[in-house]
Amino acid sequence: MQDAFQQLAQGLIVALKTVSSESELEAVRVEFLGRKGKLAEAMAGLKDLGAEARRETGKAANEAKMAMERLFASAEDRVKSARLGRLAEAEWVDLSLPGTSPREGHLHIVSQTIIEVEQIFNRIGFTRHHVPEIDWDYYAFEALNMPQDHPARDNWETYFMDAPEGEKGKMVATPHPSNDQVRLMEKLEPPFKALYIGKAYRRQSDVSHVPIHHQFETECISHDATFSELKGVIEFFVHEYFGRERKVRLRPHHFRFTEPSFEIDISCAICGGAACRLCKEGWLELAGAGLTHPNVIRAGGLDPNEWRGFAFAFGVERVLMMREGIRLPDMRDLYKNDLRFLEQF
Ligand SMILES: [Zn+2]
Repeated sequence: MQDAFQQLAQGLIVALKTVSSESELEAVRVEFLGRKGKLAEAMAGLKDLGAEARRETGKAANEAKMAMERLFASAEDRVKSARLGRLAEAEWVDLSLPGTSPREGHLHIVSQTIIEVEQIFNRIGFTRHHVPEIDWDYYAFEALNMPQDHPARDNWETYFMDAPEGEKGKMVATPHPSNDQVRLMEKLEPPFKALYIGKAYRRQSDVSHVPIHHQFETECISHDATFSELKGVIEFFVHEYFGRERKVRLRPHHFRFTEPSFEIDISCAICGGAACRLCKEGWLELAGAGLTHPNVIRAGGLDPNEWRGFAFAFGVERVLMMREGIRLPDMRDLYKNDLRFLEQF
């Protein structure tokens, strides 16, 4: 009987030798150590022995049982680590390799410029406000010192809306963002420093014009707005956006809604103001500016003897092209949604 247990342990050793997978291991476990396995069957035979033989054989049986369980456990370890080894081989990942990031988009260059412009003016106390882009003729022209039939209106090829005329005239798609001037005086409590970034709609589409372009316009209203303050704000923007080495020049001009009025030039980046083929005279035309006309202050419901203001307007597309140093053969490229073009910025 004792030999039977030893043979059983030998049998297990032989069976475990060829086991290479967890399912084969399980089959061996059932065969030898299972509830109805060979060991259980041999143990059941013990009850037929006499008391003396049962004690001795029982001891040997227990030793054999413990030995078999140890054999099985070590075979189990061997099979498991072999499986993990194969897995590590097959699914090996080098964590030090650079990852593959998903393709990421970015804001359109015009949107990037709008955000940057807003941040620059925020730094000197200007707050961005919004006014309608479809507005009454009154705010787009009349309140800006351009009464009906005034020839200055011809400078803008304006889109008129197919909508009923109201008390403030026809509705227009604003040809310039200057409708903010009187709108903001009506809306805000002076003194204030406001920035408006809006669209200008004009019936023009060629290599240097798009039917909708963006402009940013400031309006500063206070008791003592001065010409030098206006120049200081423009210089601040030019230095922040284009660089500190750029100089600003104001040239007398005429606009209906400012008096006096100026055109703003900045020194050419290529020649530093010495004149080159790009700029001809060392300067590049940038924008228009001036002190708010008393009639416009009056249209805003303020007393021009008490309140003064200044304003200037820049084209967003124009400043971004000037800074990037890109001379687009066709300005409409900005809006063709060709990623090969847009991804460069
Ligand atoms: Zn130049």
